[in-house]
Amino acid sequence: MKKSIIIGLLLIAFFTKAQERNIKKCATSHLMEYEMQTNPQYKNTVESYFNGLEEWLKNNSNSENTVITIPVVVHVVHKQSHNLGIGTNIPQIQIDDAIRILNEDYRKMNPEFPNPPRNTFNSYAGDCELEFCLATTDENGNTTTGVTRTITNSTHNSGFDADDNTDSNAMKRTATGGKDNWNPLKYLNIWVCNLTNSQGGQTLGYAYLPGQQSQAWTAWKDGLVVDYSYFGTVGNAATASNNDGRTPTHEIGHYLGLKHPFCEQTDAQGNTICCDNDNTSGGGYVDDTPAQKDIYWGSVISTTNNNTCNDTQFSNAFTSDVLDMDENFMSYAFTTWMFSHKQINVMDYTMSASTGQGGRAALKTSNGCNITGVNEILHDNLISVYPNPTNGRINFKITMNIKVNNISIQNVLGEEIIVVKNIANDIFSLDLSSFPRGIYFAIIDTDKGRSTKKILLSK
Ligand SMILES: [Zn+2]
Repeated sequence: MKKSIIIGLLLIAFFTKAQERNIKKCATSHLMEYEMQTNPQYKNTVESYFNGLEEWLKNNSNSENTVITIPVVVHVVHKQSHNLGIGTNIPQIQIDDAIRILNEDYRKMNPEFPNPPRNTFNSYAGDCELEFCLATTDENGNTTTGVTRTITNSTHNSGFDADDNTDSNAMKRTATGGKDNWNPLKYLNIWVCNLTNSQGGQTLGYAYLPGQQSQAWTAWKDGLVVDYSYFGTVGNAATASNNDGRTPTHEIGHYLGLKHPFCEQTDAQGNTICCDNDNTSGGGYVDDTPAQKDIYWGSVISTTNNNTCNDTQFSNAFTSDVLDMDENFMSYAFTTWMFSHKQINVMDYTMSASTGQGGRAALKTSNGCNITGVNEILHDNLISVYPNPTNGRINFKITMNIKVNNISIQNVLGEEIIVVKNIANDIFSLDLSSFPRGIYFAIIDTDKGRSTKKILLSK
């Protein structure tokens, strides 16, 4: 009897571990390692990027206090048989949801604040002052939705192999079943497709650290790749396991120069042999994420107390030993909600450094979103939606000189349930009480761009 219980417990433990291992989360470190070995120009750029970062951090410890809006193009690369909204050909509402999450996370406006599940590191959490807009102007100056849709070739009809060093970039080329990038000095390219794994498991996404965009012959690789069921939280991502919608948030962290906070060096037996991965000369000098050896895969709750390295043995911002910062967006925990101030400094550097230095300052002069700062205006609560949650009646208040052309209310499947055009008043209300309770989205199109608001109908 006792023996069978022990075997049962062991099986549960094994199964839990296997489930964790099944999710590979992020392939960035693996791809970076291969790229640094095979692409000497990129290796040189990354090294000079980190040298520049070290110098910059000595004199710039405070963030700039200006909000930067990064134009985004989403390349949906899908299976031939998937019509719009089906499977890999994800609905627009899912893309809008992913952009909404980025805008919350990078402005510290995510729902975990001001009272996150664990408050251990509240004073270390900062506002990145970065916003993201789906491009409204393409490379040729034409109006665009900021979304491209491409049917892949027969070789990739069932997906792209994230474990293969070549296939993991195939979605970035039209010639190999994907879609050619838009100029990475003006747009953040995000390819959304089905990621498969020939070595088993499921990779959620990956991105190169800054530098690929600096050489004409490697610029095509720059940007994010995200599996279609981990991009956003609604539509075809609604049923993915372990999806908190933060894969793009994590990958953009890499795109802007951040590394994982946990140890990634192993000995011959596969044991981790370091403690401060993101606070080394090639690691990014982030000294306000605690020393951390092991990966935590679970949810972070008030009683989570992992502490895999003793901080007093390392030179960092902590004067005593503290817990691992599992809630950091760059960790592998199931629930994450913050970037640290020093991580934000690294991202500030990336946005201020020139293309030649491996930086992304060029994005600041992109006209990809037409009017500089449009997204900023729309996200600074100039359109408010209240009460939220609501039991039926929902009000829209426009507090600045913005002309609202169209309000579309959509359910989580992306189906439009109400549409109102040419709104003349500054305050406008709609009645949702005849619809089932749940999550809805108000997509508000104005003469200055689009704003998407999540509405909770709780009647
Ligand atoms: Zn990662």
